[in-house]
Amino acid sequence: MPTASASLFRLFLTGEHARLCEEQARLCEEVETFAEANLAPLTAGMEARGPHTDHKVRTVLSTTGWLGVLIGAKWGGLDLGHVAKTLILAGLSRRSPAAGAILQASILGAAPIAEYGSEEMRRTWLPEIAAGRCWPTIAVTDPQQGSHILGMTATTRRSGQGYVLDGEKVFVGNAGIADVHCVIARTGSPGDERSLTAFLVERDSAGLDIVRRPANGLFGFSIDTLRLTGVHVPTSHIIGRVGDGLAVAQLASVVYGRLNLAAVALGIHQRLLDETARWVSARPRYDGHLSDLETVRHHIAEMKHHLMATELAVYGAAQLLDQGQSCDPWLYHAKLTAHRAGAAASEHAKQLFGGYAACLDTPIEQLRRDFDLIHAPAGPDDLQLKRLAETVLGPDRSRRARPGHSRQHRSEWSTQHALHRRTT
Ligand SMILES: Cc1cc2nc3c(=O)[nH]c(=O)nc-3n(C[C@H](O)[C@H](O)[C@H](O)COP(=O)(O)OP(=O)(O)OC[C@H]3O[C@@H](n4cnc5c(N)ncnc54)[C@H](O)[C@@H]3O)c2cc1C
Repeated sequence: MPTASASLFRLFLTGEHARLCEEQARLCEEVETFAEANLAPLTAGMEARGPHTDHKVRTVLSTTGWLGVLIGAKWGGLDLGHVAKTLILAGLSRRSPAAGAILQASILGAAPIAEYGSEEMRRTWLPEIAAGRCWPTIAVTDPQQGSHILGMTATTRRSGQGYVLDGEKVFVGNAGIADVHCVIARTGSPGDERSLTAFLVERDSAGLDIVRRPANGLFGFSIDTLRLTGVHVPTSHIIGRVGDGLAVAQLASVVYGRLNLAAVALGIHQRLLDETARWVSARPRYDGHLSDLETVRHHIAEMKHHLMATELAVYGAAQLLDQGQSCDPWLYHAKLTAHRAGAAASEHAKQLFGGYAACLDTPIEQLRRDFDLIHAPAGPDDLQLKRLAETVLGPDRSRRARPGHSRQHRSEWSTQHALHRRTT
């Protein structure tokens, strides 16, 4: 079944952008061809191994240049923008959700270096990342404080020409395959918006351990724990300035994370529809197939309807980012829609597969498990709703009253992203 995305681009890109539109349609085909040739042969083996860290997918993806899809040409990247990134991630995830998750996690890790790194830091790391030789992570999540970033407990202390880091980061996407980690840790008092700082921590640093944490889906994608015990980091490895940690984390989570995860969800959703349509068209009933029954056709129509709503939400937000527009609410909306609509489609698929939805030898069981893992990263639905409410009502009263949470007017994260891109 062809992807709807190619025709969707025409909605957003007209006139002088028509050439870009054609390029994106070609990229769609390129991604599909690549995924079919290079990922399809790996997926059964990855699934059979269960939870593991897959190095082969990294090797295969390294040849594409897609890790550098947002990195400037000056640094050897493709600089294709967020719409192109979205179609790459959705296309890969349609064939292998784990491969999509792996690529997006390191695109997230590259963002802090590209947007906050010093000239020297960019010169050192970005060409390596763009060439697929260096895979970064973003390590923000605290074991206790979770999505409350300012509450994190990972500490630092000054030591000679640098800092010493102690603490744990959980659910770090690609922890098991990465060469370098963007770690956010505390350099100031709790509650203060400038109390966090971002550090580049290299894989072989003394005191850094990766602790395995098996998950129940996306087999091959690792979300392990980083344990930092007295890890020394030189000041040259500070990303941005001391105190920029919250901004770096929010940039990764809001501007890149929401859309990256929405794109993976979109790919899985499309595949759920592909597989369900195939199933009902082949399964006999009366003198025809399940696909001839009105009730069944209604479920398929619901899945398609949810898919189209997600495509509009996700590509619309990506387009706003590419235009340098302020669009934080659209990014929250994109992630929320991608998860809710995909979850609804997953229920329709379960209905139509009947008892086979529970069987390990049908694709639907794996897809539904993989889809579940897309809920938490870059914020669960409740967090997107909280942010959307704030865009209407402002911060809630209890937050306004608490010291360090006054939230004077601050431009949106997407605006800061646009400003950064103009200067890089
Ligand atoms: C597959 C996967 C990949 C991930 N990749 C990364 C990564 O690369 N780097 C990284 O740093 N982290 C990563 N994460 C972690 C992810 O970002 C967190 O799981 C997420 O931020 C939620 O944090 P938590 O799990 O601690 O949940 P909590 O913050 O404890 O929240 C649990 C629930 O409590 C409610 N809740 C919490 N706070 C609020 C609030 N303020 N308002 C309303 N309701 C609230 C919500 O219902 C929420 O779902 C990943 C997670 C997964 C599963």
